[in-house]
Amino acid sequence: MKLKDRIAIVTGAAMGIGKAIAEAMADEGAKIVIADVNDEEGKKTADNINKSGGHANFIKVDVTDFNQIKAATSEVLDQYNKIDILVNNAGIGIMEPFMDGKEEEWDRLIAIDFKGPMLFSKAVLSSMIKEQYGKIINIASVTGVMAVELQVLYSATKGGVIAFTRSLAAEMAAHHINVNAICPGLTATPLVDRGMKEAPEYFDQLIKEIPMGRPAQPEEIAKLAVFLASDESKYITGQRIIIDGGTSRV
Ligand code: NAD
Repeated sequence: MKLKDRIAIVTGAAMGIGKAIAEAMADEGAKIVIADVNDEEGKKTADNINKSGGHANFIKVDVTDFNQIKAATSEVLDQYNKIDILVNNAGIGIMEPFMDGKEEEWDRLIAIDFKGPMLFSKAVLSSMIKEQYGKIINIASVTGVMAVELQVLYSATKGGVIAFTRSLAAEMAAHHINVNAICPGLTATPLVDRGMKEAPEYFDQLIKEIPMGRPAQPEEIAKLAVFLASDESKYITGQRIIIDGGTSRV
């Protein structure tokens, strides 16, 4: 097992990519904390992991609220004494022409997708520095490295997450803490299902632009997260790893 007895917090793990990462890490022996705003789905994901022989619990946390994040982190430390892995996965999307954007929507997007990973990293890093060990994996997006119409603000937040990853990795390397970003292309999750209902032609076009001809499955992204959380990747830090079926061509 690649992650035996590692303690992993996965944000936004009630569904989608985060859920697949939580399940894959549990299969490799990690003890999982699902940190999500969605109680119902979050508890279901934790129950399913426990029923399949893994180990998981759910904590309700909104990644925009530093007090909630600090309370959740303390709860995990009380239970396990350490946090080995943090996956900053919670995220939302906005798909609209730039000129139609509303400031309140932008603030919410920035608070979840951009500031959330910073707040959660700050909360877990004291423990990681004390242990002189840690793995932070930020789920960015291929839109953070390529131009995409109708996702201007989203791509800007993901570009910011990539820059945050690089500089935090430089600062944390001396503490044996790896910080990397995964940049998925279009992935079949509830987020994309919702988008497909709203704008089917736009998504059909996105799929046509994928050289491999299909979106990723969340489990394919999860395998990369397991690798980055394991000691197989201990000399990799500060990187953004694109997993997009060839779409970005960068
Ligand atoms: P999803 O909507 O299927 O799941 C997102 C999860 O995040 C949900 O469980 C939701 O409850 C949770 N969440 C939302 N706001 C939260 C908050 N404030 N605090 C805590 N939890 C919150 O989305 P997904 O497609 O699985 O996306 C996961 C991550 O992957 C996001 O960061 C997204 O930007 C990124 N991503 C997705 C795709 C894709 O095509 N699906 C592509 C590239 C990157």
